[in-house]
This record gives sequence, C-alpha cells and structure tokens, in this order.
Amino acid sequence: MNYIYRFRLYPKKDQIDFLNRQIGHCRFVYNKLLEIAKRDYEESGKSWNYYEYKKLLPKLKEKYPFLKEANSQSLQEAVKWLDRAFKNFFEKRARFPQFKSKRKANSVSIPQHFTIEGNKVKIPKLKKPLRFIKHREIEGEIKSISITKTPTEKFFLNVLVDRKIKPLPKSNNIVAIDVGIETFCTLSNGDKIKKPKHLILSEKKLKKLQRCLSRKEKGSGKYIKLKKRIAKLHEKIKHQREDFLHKLSKQIIGDNQAIVVENLNVKGMLKNHKLAKHIADASWRRFISFLEYKAKLYGRQIVKANAFYPSSKLCSVCGYKNENLTLKDREWTCPVCGTRHDRDLNATINLLKTGLASLNQAVGADCPELMPVEGAVASCEAGSLSLQ
Ligand SMILES: [Zn+2]
Repeated sequence: MNYIYRFRLYPKKDQIDFLNRQIGHCRFVYNKLLEIAKRDYEESGKSWNYYEYKKLLPKLKEKYPFLKEANSQSLQEAVKWLDRAFKNFFEKRARFPQFKSKRKANSVSIPQHFTIEGNKVKIPKLKKPLRFIKHREIEGEIKSISITKTPTEKFFLNVLVDRKIKPLPKSNNIVAIDVGIETFCTLSNGDKIKKPKHLILSEKKLKKLQRCLSRKEKGSGKYIKLKKRIAKLHEKIKHQREDFLHKLSKQIIGDNQAIVVENLNVKGMLKNHKLAKHIADASWRRFISFLEYKAKLYGRQIVKANAFYPSSKLCSVCGYKNENLTLKDREWTCPVCGTRHDRDLNATINLLKTGLASLNQAVGADCPELMPVEGAVASCEAGSLSLQ
C-alpha cells in the first residue's frame, strides 16, 4: 500500500536557489513538451505517446543548455507527469493538460540516488544535505521522494513508501454517517460532529479578507499584499481541514468494523446553490476518500448506500414517509407512531438500516434490495447496531 509522508523542509539560502532552479527546469520541460504535444494534437489530431515525446528530451537539452544542470531523472519524471495528465484526459477523467504556472505549487521528483538519514536528506547534484522536521518516523520501504514548493514559498519533502499495515482487531460495531447541514456529520449512535472552532474562525476571516480584496485596486501594492495574506490563509485552512478529517476518519475507522455512508451525487447537488456551499465546505467527498483509504489500510468495510433512498423522509421507527418534510425542518413528529425525530439522526438511522440490508444481502441473507429490514428496526432503536 502506497503512503506519502510529508515533512517541512528548511533549505538554506543557496539551497533554496538550487531547489528553485530544479523545480523550474521540471516545469520548463513539462510546459515545452505540452506545447509541442498540444500543437500536434490541434494540427493533426496526433495522440500523445509517452515514448515518442520522451525522445525529445535530449533535443530540448541541446537547445536549452541550462537544462544540463538538472537531474536527468527528475526531468524524465516530469515527462511522466505529462503522460499521466494526457492519460487522464484521454480516459475522460480530466480536462486537457494545462500549462504549469510559476504562481502555483510546483515540484521536482527524485526517483533514485537520494539518502535519508535522521532529519537530513541528500539529493543528487546538491553537496550538503537538506534539513527537514521529522515529526514522525518513516515506516515501510521508501520508493521515491519529491520536493514541493508552495505558492507561499514553503518547501516540503514528500516521501513515498510501500507500507504494510496490520489490520486492526475486529470490531462488532457498524455505524452510519450522514452529512449534516448545521453539523459536519451525524453518526447513527447519536454523535453529532461539529467542525472545529478554529477552522470556522479561519473560514470567516477568509471571507472578510476576500471582501476587502474586492474593494482594492487590482495590481496595487495593497492588493498584492492582501493577495499574499489570502494565499497563506488558504493554506492554513487546508491544513486545519485535513487535520480534522484525518483525526475524525481515524477515530471512526478505529471504532467500527463497517461504516455506511450515503453515496452522494455531488455533481447533482452542486447545482443546488444552498447545498453546494455546505457540501463544498464540509469537504464531504474528501472525508469519504479518507475513510475508504483508511478502511483498506486497516481491514474495515465501507458500505455505500443508494443516494436516492429517501433517508430523511422515512420514519426510522415505523417506515411512514413524510412527503412534506422540507430542508428547514430540523425536527418532526411522525403522525403514525408519534415518534419525535431529530432530522439528521433519523436519516442516519435509516442509512444504517439500508447499509445493513445491503451487507446482509452480500452475505446471502434474504433481504429486499436496499429496504429497511424488519429485524434491523428493532435493534436500531438503541441507536447503534452490531454486526452478527
Ligand atoms: Zn413513525
């Protein structure tokens, strides 16, 4: 299983110059080859061919002698990035490859001939090793490294390892998680997870700064200064959010054997502007990908329930369908059985039942497809379920 460790690098002044040039050479090669491939594609419809375009590398080096100071293997890696970008485009996973901008994060890959000792990494063509903050031990077999420079001019060392992780001891718990509107998410055991306060504060601050920016004259000194502050804050928010999602997904994976999530049709939801904000803000998709990744790592199961299942509208006790429920209704009372529902918790319990039904089905039990199971209803009342 591939895993990437990320460490903050602290290069000295001459090392910064060196890294900037190495990163610049990779970006240069990427953009030059993209320019050629793009022209070929537009003029004659010629498709990308990795081996063919890779052969242009020596010619580029001849034409642009400054490329000779670059680590050849790093330049070859840049061709591989372009290969991946084209593959994603032709397999309809991404738009046509874009030119790399100096203003965005840029990297240099170092596939071989590096050594990591303690908190130092030695890379080809650089005499003195680079120092990094080793906030955790590296476990697994190191495959390759890369160095990234962020738009705020910070450097990071990425260490790709092949990690074998022992699965966690089996748990008997199964939980469903539903994306919330007021809370980040609701668990079927009744837990409501809020976004951390510092993250909310940072997001508010960002909005304020962005409003400020719109009032400044474009290109002015104040505008540029504010733009830099915003870039820094964006980076901070990203870290705070990822940190929150990592910790939460780790805890949920640790506590449960199976996790039921709604298979959201995010594209469809983005059209709804009110929901779009929440979905984007909540980073729900990112969260699911963390859960899936960690489930694979630790031997857990993710069950994706049908997105069109009306989980909010069904009474989780008697199955009555409340057609009149609107997004505003945070609580409602079932007219048939009289149960008072918290909207999110009721939806999550329904999700749990659906997930359990599909799990049962997977093991061969006789269950109607993705419908509440009678047996599950009873045990659902406690709010959480156990895997039999
Ligand atoms: Zn009811």
